[in-house]
Amino acid sequence: MTPPRSYRAEAIVLRRTELGEADRVVTFFTAEYGKLKAVAKGVRKPKSKLAGLVELFTHSTLQIARGRGLDVLSQGEVIHPFLPLKTDLARSSCAFYVAELVSRFTVEHQENVDLFDILLGTMVELCETRKSDLLLRRFEMQLLQCMGYRPNLYHCTACNAQLKPTTNAFSPSGGGVLCPACAGADPAARGISVNSIKVLRLLQDGDWATALRVNIEEHLAGELEHVLRVYVEYLLERRVQSATWMDKVRSEVRKAVPPDLPQPSQGKGRADTAAAH
Ligand SMILES: [Zn+2]
Repeated sequence: MTPPRSYRAEAIVLRRTELGEADRVVTFFTAEYGKLKAVAKGVRKPKSKLAGLVELFTHSTLQIARGRGLDVLSQGEVIHPFLPLKTDLARSSCAFYVAELVSRFTVEHQENVDLFDILLGTMVELCETRKSDLLLRRFEMQLLQCMGYRPNLYHCTACNAQLKPTTNAFSPSGGGVLCPACAGADPAARGISVNSIKVLRLLQDGDWATALRVNIEEHLAGELEHVLRVYVEYLLERRVQSATWMDKVRSEVRKAVPPDLPQPSQGKGRADTAAAH
């Protein structure tokens, strides 16, 4: 939907790039118009009143004027600066990942208020959660569903047989799980454990409070992350750049635990470990 000449939007900053001497081009995801880009003029000068509005991940209401080329940010008000997403490296790397997926899965000026709510809810929780890995898995499942890629986790995507509690296979091109008899039909399909399917079903259809109570061991957390990342990258037909950085930050943060502090115990969820810092 094309916005009017001057319009208001509730927005979250996804990314920004420098333009000229003092400007920035900012990509927002808005409740009213989906993804859009606008120029923030003079924002890199000291004392610019727009500076706070174009900080990464900031949630605000904006007033924007439609331009002949790019739209121009005229003023606005910060609703939530989401400071932990800027000051805490681990949380920041997760926020970059969330913002990149929203940006990659969407086109400009296509309203999607459900996706805006998912993005906002994820950023709010990301500021405080101690289970950032599980939160990212929930975000991926919500995003996939919202964009029409809800994975089929109950029936074989080839023969439609009800899945049995055994090792099945996840097929990115099939958009879901294949039973053992059909697994060979897709060479790209990879084994998926009973527990992974259970957690994914809980994230897909259960409530978040129940999901948070599940103790997810490290190898299971790794399997869940891998299954969803392969599916996401298959759909996008590209690697998710921020995922590489997020992985690196996570391994550095773990290494940085001082030896005199209790080390995360074996079998404790990866989410717990990552969020403990
Ligand atoms: Zn089958």
